[in-house]
Amino acid sequence: MNYIFLIFFIFFLEIADCHSTICSIDTSIYKNNIKKFLSKHSIDEPYDRMIQFESCNLEIVYINQSTGRVFKLDSLASNAFFKMKEAAMLDSVEFNIISAYRSFNHQVKIIERKLKSGKSMESILKENTLPGYSQHHTGNAIDLSQKSVNYLSESFDKTNEFKWLVNNADKYGFYLTYPKNNQKGIMYEPWHWVYIHNVD
Ligand SMILES: [Zn+2]
Repeated sequence: MNYIFLIFFIFFLEIADCHSTICSIDTSIYKNNIKKFLSKHSIDEPYDRMIQFESCNLEIVYINQSTGRVFKLDSLASNAFFKMKEAAMLDSVEFNIISAYRSFNHQVKIIERKLKSGKSMESILKENTLPGYSQHHTGNAIDLSQKSVNYLSESFDKTNEFKWLVNNADKYGFYLTYPKNNQKGIMYEPWHWVYIHNVD
């Protein structure tokens, strides 16, 4: 009897884990790594930001043939992105992926590289989110530009691609995280779209 219960319990854990985007086993280590980074750089824990956990269910969405760079998203976001991309192509709209999933360690490297180049932490944090707090860790955020444009620019909001996203992205579960004059007080980012899974 207990044996059957145990099998059931393990089965339940497997299912729960499949649908979770949080690597629950690593949660405390992850939080500790954030604390270590903050104390190393004498930064207070941000009271107004939520910790963003890394996806453990990543899928490749794009490989840049010239740079070899691999772009990944969480599996649900990846499915939704492919559906959105297909629909966009039917309207002759194509995107370039500038950034997708980024690990905690990748975010640390970006910031430490900028510090080494002589930038102050204050100016870095105007452009980059603290490791542990970036939506890119979750694998649900994607930065998009026009097809042949390889950088992020506010002028993306003047393009047909952006207009298409404004009119259609929500049908696929993608939303702008930082619209103009957002309440979070974060710089306007017309390129940064996040997938929000609708549970019902
Ligand atoms: Zn972004």
